[in-house]
Amino acid sequence: MIKEKRWNFKKYEKEIYEYWKKYKIYEFKLDDREIFSIDTPPPYTSGDWHIGAVASYIIHDVVARSARMQGYNVLFPFGLDRNGLPVEVYVEKKYKISIARGDVSREDFIELCRKELDKLGEQYKEIVKRCGIFYNYFDADHPYKTDSDEYRALTQLTFEILWKRGLIYKDKRVNNWCWRCGTTIADAEIEYKEVEQDLYYIKFDLEDGNHIIIATTRPELIPACRVIIYHPDDERYTNLEGKYAINPITQEKILIKSHPRVEKEFGTGIEMVCSYGSFADIEILEEFGIKSKIIINPAGKLNENAGKYQGLTIKEAREKIVEDLRKEGRIVKQEKIKSNVPICWRCKTPIEFIEMEEYYLKQKEFKEELLALAEKMKFYPEKYKEHLITWIKNINRDWPISRRRYYATEIPIWYCKRCGYIYVPEPNFKEPKYYKPWKEKPPIDKCPNCGSTEWVGEKRVFDTWFDSSISELYVARYVYDMNIFNKAFPVTVRPQGYEIIRTWLYYTLLRSYLLFGKEPFKYVIINGMGVDEKGRKMSKSLGNIVFPIPIIEKYGADALRMWAVGEVKLGENYPFKEHKVAGNAKFINKLFNIGRFVSQFNKLDNYDTKKLYPTDKAIIAKFNKILRAVIEAYKNFDFFTVVRILKRFTREDFASNYLELVKKRLKGGLGNEKNSALFTIHYVFKGILLLWAPILPFITEYLWQKIYAKNREDSIHKQLFPKAIEIDKEEEYADKFNKIIEFNAKIWKLKEEKGLKLKDVISIDIPKDLEEFKEDLINLHNIVCKK
Ligand SMILES: [Zn+2]
Ligand SMILES: [Zn+2]
Repeated sequence: MIKEKRWNFKKYEKEIYEYWKKYKIYEFKLDDREIFSIDTPPPYTSGDWHIGAVASYIIHDVVARSARMQGYNVLFPFGLDRNGLPVEVYVEKKYKISIARGDVSREDFIELCRKELDKLGEQYKEIVKRCGIFYNYFDADHPYKTDSDEYRALTQLTFEILWKRGLIYKDKRVNNWCWRCGTTIADAEIEYKEVEQDLYYIKFDLEDGNHIIIATTRPELIPACRVIIYHPDDERYTNLEGKYAINPITQEKILIKSHPRVEKEFGTGIEMVCSYGSFADIEILEEFGIKSKIIINPAGKLNENAGKYQGLTIKEAREKIVEDLRKEGRIVKQEKIKSNVPICWRCKTPIEFIEMEEYYLKQKEFKEELLALAEKMKFYPEKYKEHLITWIKNINRDWPISRRRYYATEIPIWYCKRCGYIYVPEPNFKEPKYYKPWKEKPPIDKCPNCGSTEWVGEKRVFDTWFDSSISELYVARYVYDMNIFNKAFPVTVRPQGYEIIRTWLYYTLLRSYLLFGKEPFKYVIINGMGVDEKGRKMSKSLGNIVFPIPIIEKYGADALRMWAVGEVKLGENYPFKEHKVAGNAKFINKLFNIGRFVSQFNKLDNYDTKKLYPTDKAIIAKFNKILRAVIEAYKNFDFFTVVRILKRFTREDFASNYLELVKKRLKGGLGNEKNSALFTIHYVFKGILLLWAPILPFITEYLWQKIYAKNREDSIHKQLFPKAIEIDKEEEYADKFNKIIEFNAKIWKLKEEKGLKLKDVISIDIPKDLEEFKEDLINLHNIVCKK
């Protein structure tokens, strides 16, 4: 029997978490059950983890817990993503150093990154625990790390496999380039940002003494102007075909040609093509066979090809060139326009296009196969499959996978110093090795080609998505435990945010296809983003970040969890509203009070349900219906519906109506009138607890232990969802319970209107169809029948 008056979450949530840990309630062990594996997104170990981000991890935990209660053997590992740009950008800013500038040694920089990552990684442990999220295999205290030797060895192994199969090649091409990060970036890593820019109208002289006006937002690229184009239908310019203009900065002659890409309405309808202002520029120069002239160096400064502007940054060069053109009277107009500028997804710097030699992974020739595999994965919500399909259809270049950075997985390649032979180690499936070619010798002595023993190690690293796109293989224990892998792959669920469909999800699909010819997941769950009350993204600059721990301290983890899954439908952004969490805390306390009430009554182990009283039969019929609906919703990851149905049933049907109706029989009844009620309250309340358990793991565990646990190890989280007992005429009785609720509401309202207390006598007729519930209704309302 429970004595306490309130749910003391501050005390019990911590105790219960320790209990789970001590009794290994969630331990993963291979057995006969089907594995339900979850490829939890390893959070980037940078900055602060706000409540909006944490909410999605609560959703994953509810997925894991509800799968376990459906009888699956759940594999739910936790990891931390520590590779790539985020930590590098963080360290560069914090220590005011730059890799691109070369003012720190590689060894020292890696050390700094590791140190900061370890510090930043601590916060996750505490938050995960306080939220009641319980991982297994790799848990909060022992998360896997994408920069561990084991993980990096697997990344390198997959590279070695793909290399042997000829799927990776080296090429010198123009690529997206972030000069701030000093690296090539993939198309998938580009974001677009609307910015207001100056559009300059600039006078270019023609060879014949006339002139044209060209509008551009990037006057600093004028020294790299290679051809001038207009639309073939534009009669204003057709007489210029094949003529030359004079570059106002370099005085070079520039050919004028027609090209259908030109938008006649933009600017003056005639434009310059520079090497390079966009991908379209690259294509047009290739098409015309015109050589490029690169004027921007990898550090984002103008090079020797820019003449007197050499050494200036892009921004400085723009200002200087505009100033010079203005002096010459060449700027005839200047206006503000809004345009979408491609920026680096990590540091938000506008990207440039630079020719670099990189390694590429083939992808564009597999689009059909990838589309077919994408179709095999079931998406929740369905609409997001289209995002993936559209992205795949639009791919027209292979994936540049090499990066000129430090804190990432090294590309395992050595070059023979004498003949240039490229050596990639043989894949070692028994014991994958982690290689650091920039400081280590290759696992081979002589060059197979020329016999030389001198090697140069590759300095570059992989794109961060090359690491994260094998997370599902790593969590399914590929290579490291093939007994698990054979049962766990394809992985059951990939839960993730919609903003990384074209990166994380797409690349995982690509790698899974190239390595195994299979889809990586059975289900893909896409969640929205946690935003502030006004629907804005939480960010430091807006000052609207809410942290989870203070909210948990105030309302308890269960209340926060109920908000995270119950506030909006899956896939929609979820605004954080504190009063909603406060409301949930009230509901949870109500559940506690119901539990306290129920806990005073004996349980009946054997009861013949044919002897049930009509009211008891009716609530069981109603419960059976919601039981099936809730389990169905759990199967569809529709937790919003679970919360909506359960909350109403718990509070209205069960507590406010049923318990009030049977109080007298429970407390004063004799024989079967009491037994029927005893059986029923426990059947229904036990069911309620089990159905709430994935969402409210703490309070349900507490009440379970107090009322239903057979022994200390018998956690609620080891139970299965209940099965409905058979009730004859179930549909009819469920409906009758709804009628009882209506009748009760009517009487309560009537008494209120008449200024009567709930216990006061009232004289009213009981409707014919509720005749069989008469006894309980009279007891509840103190009815004196008119007849
Ligand atoms: Zn960048
Ligand atoms: Zn050689």
